[in-house]
Amino acid sequence: MENKIERPYILLTPGPLTTSDTVKEVMLKDWCTWDKEYNELVQSMRDKILNIGVKNKEEYTTILMQGSGTFVVESVIGSSIRREQDKILIIVNGVYGKRIVEIANVLGLSSVEMNFGETSEVNLELLKKMLETDKEISHVAVVHCETTTGRLNPIEKISKIVKKYNKLFIVDAMSSFGGIDIRIDDLKIDFLISSANKCIQGVPGFGFVVANKKSLEVCKGNAKSLSLDLYSQWDTMEKSGGKWRFTSPTHVVRAFYQALLELEAEGGVTAREERYTKNHDLLVNGMRGLGFKTLLQDSEMSPIITTFYSPKSSEFSFEKFYKLLKEKGFVIYPGKVSESDTFRIGNIGEINSKDMERLLKSIVECLYWKLCL
Ligand SMILES: *Cc1c(COP(=O)(O)O)cnc(C)c1O
Repeated sequence: MENKIERPYILLTPGPLTTSDTVKEVMLKDWCTWDKEYNELVQSMRDKILNIGVKNKEEYTTILMQGSGTFVVESVIGSSIRREQDKILIIVNGVYGKRIVEIANVLGLSSVEMNFGETSEVNLELLKKMLETDKEISHVAVVHCETTTGRLNPIEKISKIVKKYNKLFIVDAMSSFGGIDIRIDDLKIDFLISSANKCIQGVPGFGFVVANKKSLEVCKGNAKSLSLDLYSQWDTMEKSGGKWRFTSPTHVVRAFYQALLELEAEGGVTAREERYTKNHDLLVNGMRGLGFKTLLQDSEMSPIITTFYSPKSSEFSFEKFYKLLKEKGFVIYPGKVSESDTFRIGNIGEINSKDMERLLKSIVECLYWKLCL
């Protein structure tokens, strides 16, 4: 695709990410929050989101919520966990799982953390044992793609266990929904959370929840925050035909609608996953060819973002590497794993094989001249 809007660089970061010109262009018009045309667009958007992950649409609904992804996670945790009756088990193997623990702590909720470490998989046997022994647990939360490392947690297997013990299931699918096929109703997920600026390829400003209606109804009157009240937000959207409770990020919403149309035009989630996987494979093979090592094994990685060890040479400077690549038109991501020295490269957004090939060429140039050493 020809770019009309000047791109000094592309974002190889997992959100905000590189968006298409057409997504950016629709933001050039102003929108009013109570206007019928705008509210109808919101309703259509909610329906399109539902279509992506749910077959049985009667049982599920979509709620949109202002803020970055974390706000939406906080709204789900704060609205669904009741102070006296409930206890949430949080599966952690990265920064985003840990963030759910922090949210539960700040809100003063009863919680238990199962932390496997940033580079380890979820131990399903331990999860079973935990649910077997701690009868107070009512909810289980897990991050699907742990963006800290790029690891994909096995939500299919986790769901089987969670549902065997009859618990509510919360999935932070922030960085995977729209880029990896997730069958929300088959997996019996009660609350799935994602945001505008990840795999749907919109711009930042709001997030959304695909919720089981029965589980959502229990949230009534249970929020610990006025603005992050998931039930009230849903109630208003339903009763007022697509109105948000407070000012909505109108331009961002319009851009997201365009992004949804572009996802459909690309061929839906399957086609998008294929493109991301191709980006990922090209990147990993190319980087390995240059001597870089990935943090995770092939079987653990997602097509979303890839973590590489920084070269062992004590002279390697990520800052220099980052700066040079930015000058060449690529913004990469610092590492987030505390145990090792790493950096990350995102595979998502309006980018393709050609961009990955250009990136690899630029990395070769950096290394050849030992510019980053
Ligand atoms: C991006 C992301 C979030 C939300 O982060 P924000 O900075 O609040 O948008 C949450 N969980 C995961 C797994 C993410 O990748």
